[in-house]
Amino acid sequence: IRKIGVLTSGGDAPGMNAAVRAAVRRGISLGAEVVGVRRGYAGLIAGEFVDLGVSSVGDIIHRGGTFLQTARSDHFLTPEGQAQALAKAREAGIEGLVVIGGDGSFRGALRLTELGLPAVGVPATIDNDIYGTDLTIGFDTAVNTCLDAIRKIRDTATSHERTFVLEVMGRHSGWIALAAGLAGGAESILLPERPMPMEEVVTRLKRGVERGKRHTLIIVAEGVGSGFEVGRQIREMTGYDTRVMVLGHIQRGGSPTALDAMLASRMGAKAAEVLLEEGRGGLFIGVENEQMVTRPLEQVLGRRKEIPDELVDLAEILAI
Ligand code: ADP
Repeated sequence: IRKIGVLTSGGDAPGMNAAVRAAVRRGISLGAEVVGVRRGYAGLIAGEFVDLGVSSVGDIIHRGGTFLQTARSDHFLTPEGQAQALAKAREAGIEGLVVIGGDGSFRGALRLTELGLPAVGVPATIDNDIYGTDLTIGFDTAVNTCLDAIRKIRDTATSHERTFVLEVMGRHSGWIALAAGLAGGAESILLPERPMPMEEVVTRLKRGVERGKRHTLIIVAEGVGSGFEVGRQIREMTGYDTRVMVLGHIQRGGSPTALDAMLASRMGAKAAEVLLEEGRGGLFIGVENEQMVTRPLEQVLGRRKEIPDELVDLAEILAI
């Protein structure tokens, strides 16, 4: 392999740029040419390529979003779309592909590998829901954004003796809610993986108030349902002054934290190494016990990454 492509696909995540930068520079250091593909698989089908030299990825390591842009492509789900993507890659001389994205993007990477274009996945999603890696790029930044909000809300919640419900992202996964809730000292954390009846939430809330707590913070993972609905039920069941905040897309933006920028740099570089040194595709890069690992895509796609009981239990114990 002498020429590789890099694309970002699916939902964006802070640190994607740092991963692109690392793949480009590691690729070049290994003697390869690197081509950026704009707008994910949609851009691959359309042949939207840009040559990426060493300086082309300068000054992006700290930027949120993805300068290559990302897209979702339904056409790529079809055999025709995939054949077209393959043809465009061949035309441009691309012999390997780094795919930075989530589960859906990895399915595309596996498909391309099966069709003869070796592709390697780099897990970037704030949801941290990819099986086979301890962390995904963007998760730490999103959690820190939530934590920042929690601390600010805490100030006003205490001053006014209010109950706050904060809905955070994560699609079907409770990782962001759990991490932010634990680090932020929330009273209850509602996770899709561990359904909690509203009676239980309210019992705890009342117990806290009786004990003299001046505020209550309840974190709701979006996979559980609407924060507004949770707030409405609490208001109805307790009569407490309850405010709801949906944090929304600010969780997807911002500069990557040190942890994410480092993770992205290591993973992006490793992806280029796997393609250029080993000539292999159909794999993705993970981190396990601080070490970079590679795993076959077909072993992890569609598998659910569990949230650890240990953290759920600890969050409950500490919230007493
Ligand atoms: P994410 O990568 O963040 O999970 P999506 O699920 O939207 O985001 O997937 C991004 C893109 O990956 C989709 O728009 C589609 O083009 C491609 N993709 C998703 N699933 C598959 C699949 N089963 N086979 C081939 N390509 C897929």
